[in-house]
Amino acid sequence: MNVRKILTVAEVLHTEDQPQRTCIGCRKKALRSELLRLVAEGSGSTAVLVDERRRMAGRGAWLHPSEACLALAVKRRAFGRALNGATGSTAVERRIMAGKQDAGPLQIPLVAAAKTVQPESGSEN
Ligand SMILES: [Zn+2]
Repeated sequence: MNVRKILTVAEVLHTEDQPQRTCIGCRKKALRSELLRLVAEGSGSTAVLVDERRRMAGRGAWLHPSEACLALAVKRRAFGRALNGATGSTAVERRIMAGKQDAGPLQIPLVAAAKTVQPESGSEN
């Protein structure tokens, strides 16, 4: 099997300190620990998966866990280019939305307060 190894600019110009990767959204470099690693699910699927432990096999892409970078990546079709045609970014979107809730103030819907008293039905005709 002929596996082509393509070095990205980030890999060639790696710094001696911590490994840096380029965000596929804003194209800025950041430490690996600041970025989400994304991989293609493969096996005929076009889904993009979030590699939480940054250990999954295969070619990875890197993205800031932010809506802005996600939007940029989607707009410039960076997923497909970085991940051999994988374009299904639903899992990534969910991950970023979930992370946003952890970081910011939670907005819990007031279910109890919104509960309305339902009128009895059936007694009138
Ligand atoms: Zn970014």
